[in-house]
Amino acid sequence: MRIVLLGAPGSGKGTQAKKLMADKNIPQVSTGDMLRAAVAAGTRFGRKAQSIMEAGNLVPDDVVLGIISERLAEPDAADGFILDGFPRTRQQALDLAELLDQMGTPLDAAVLMDVDFEILMKRLTGRRTCSLTGKLLNVYYSSQEELEECTSAGGELIQREDDNEETISNRLNVYREQTEPLIDFYRKRDLLKSIDADGSIDEVYERFVAVL
Ligand code: AMP
Repeated sequence: MRIVLLGAPGSGKGTQAKKLMADKNIPQVSTGDMLRAAVAAGTRFGRKAQSIMEAGNLVPDDVVLGIISERLAEPDAADGFILDGFPRTRQQALDLAELLDQMGTPLDAAVLMDVDFEILMKRLTGRRTCSLTGKLLNVYYSSQEELEECTSAGGELIQREDDNEETISNRLNVYREQTEPLIDFYRKRDLLKSIDADGSIDEVYERFVAVL
């Protein structure tokens, strides 16, 4: 199964990709996670990417294409993958089509996670990661017990650098201008499937699996 997950920041792509990965044993390939790892490693490239990411802008197409082509050549991606956060521009979508064509492994579907703007804002501003377990939580949606499970074990609820209001609003604009056109791109190629991504993680996951 080779899938692209489309959707605005905060639509739940990462959460659903992780669930599908655990369920079907195919890797989640997240350009955002790979870029954050490069930033954390403090490489020269990571330092360049950091300021772009903190502003909520997009890292250049050729850079992400390089990261993706290396990643998809790894053995665990041979039987499928879930692309989370890539492609984000028309050029990236064209590059991906060409890359998969060369590999002889076409996409099966592009799944759009559809969510209202207000819910996106709440998901993004409330998003936290437990420093101990890496578990994704949300101060608006997670139960008090879940939040305390992290803090009482000595963990901290960490907010992503780019989850502040100013950067969030730029990321949403960038999404509208550069990524939203990909909905039509995949619709024209008969690959688009859309799901209502408002609801609990399990509800959305059921809809996700049903369209695959
Ligand atoms: P994400 O975790 O997918 O929200 O990505 C976080 C940030 O990483 C984005 O706001 C961009 O700055 C950068 N990024 C992730 N994926 C891409 C991509 N496919 N193209 C360009 N920049 C990206």
